[in-house]
Amino acid sequence: MSFSTLGLSSPILKAISDKGYSKPTPIQLKAIPAILQGKDLVAAAQTGTGKTASFVLPILEKLNVEHVHRGKRVRALIITPTRELTEQVAANIDQYSQHMSISTMAMYGGIDAEPQKKRLIEGVDVLVATPGRLLEMIHQRAVHFDELEVLVLDEADRMLNMGFIDDINKIIDRLPTERQSLLFSATLTEDVRFLANTVNDDAVEIAISPKTKAASTIDQWLITVDLDTKSALLSHLIKEQSWDQALIFIEKKHGAAKLAAQLGKRGIEAEAIHGDRSQAMRAKILNDFKSGELKFLIATGVAARGIDIGQLSRVVNYDLPFKPEEYIHRIGRTGRAGASGEAISFVAMGDFKKLCAIESRLGHIIERKEIEGFPVRKTVPVSILNYVPKRKPKPNPNPTKAQAPNSAKNKRKPSAKKAKSPSKNESIWGKH
Ligand code: AMP
Repeated sequence: MSFSTLGLSSPILKAISDKGYSKPTPIQLKAIPAILQGKDLVAAAQTGTGKTASFVLPILEKLNVEHVHRGKRVRALIITPTRELTEQVAANIDQYSQHMSISTMAMYGGIDAEPQKKRLIEGVDVLVATPGRLLEMIHQRAVHFDELEVLVLDEADRMLNMGFIDDINKIIDRLPTERQSLLFSATLTEDVRFLANTVNDDAVEIAISPKTKAASTIDQWLITVDLDTKSALLSHLIKEQSWDQALIFIEKKHGAAKLAAQLGKRGIEAEAIHGDRSQAMRAKILNDFKSGELKFLIATGVAARGIDIGQLSRVVNYDLPFKPEEYIHRIGRTGRAGASGEAISFVAMGDFKKLCAIESRLGHIIERKEIEGFPVRKTVPVSILNYVPKRKPKPNPNPTKAQAPNSAKNKRKPSAKKAKSPSKNESIWGKH
């Protein structure tokens, strides 16, 4: 099926063809018609599936009508977890709307708020924002939502993981109840469902794959390694296998800076992005990496969220992530929209449980490769699929009181628990 059958008009179709997309991706096939029909949506789609276009294109179509702008007003609001993703989504909107007169603004913290305030004075069609700065602007009465038509919560699972639930609830309180609401999340976890659960009954749920799966175009393999030889192994692989580019994930920000220095000593130019670097520096490093000028980028998981690098050929899990979902997100940076890619994980003995959880989620064992010159002293056993880590029972702080039943609600994280229930008969998604 082609884009022209989805109900999009010619300026958008032209922009899509300028981008070189020949056919819609599965999420686009499902989401675009539903959004055009005005339905509310809860969509499970990981990054790399074309999910951004799946909501941006129909929103542009809906906004493409005669409209008289009022100051400080916004017609579509897209809330995202990170500055990088905000920039990226706004850049996508600019591209997809290049043959239309639609205004877009990216708004996030860590930079001077004054230019953002000034920009809002005239009003914008589409505002892409992180929760914290958006709330600040709302409090300063720099933006009003009485003309809002569509709300998008992008990467909802990540926003919850980052503790944004209270901010999101406060923002939603300020929005008109008559609006279309779209929630996108890589995984529909219990917490995400809680955020979306109160979605009014006729919200359409779309899942691209019922279980989160890694794109099949990604060649995944792992190397077992001792902790003290990791950086030497990475340098060896980069040189021996003549890697063109790699996005390297690491857990800790000080580890990121250290690894960049260690690679530098071995003649490999690498840069690190993490929360402690200034926004301007992060943007510069990211641009250099995107343009290919910088070949090796080391990033902590949060900093790397949402990075869209087009044809990225390789990602490395220098440290294995704690959650299987995070592994899927990370390797989804490569092999995007059908292109092939390689995902390599370094696995040390202490990572065994994490590896079992990841492989159980994938439903298969990841191929292991041995690298000559790097024998392992502390071996990692082969995983057991469907491994369930044993949890120690939590001590009851008040033995006279019975423990709460093990209901889904009681398993919720404290931040999500605090989520305000929607008032009266109204869901957080508003009334229709
Ligand atoms: P996303 O999942 O939104 O992060 O998009 C992943 C990548 O797929 C981006 O680089 C998009 O430009 C690209 N993309 C989106 N839709 C299509 C399509 N229909 N055909 C080819 N590439 C696409």
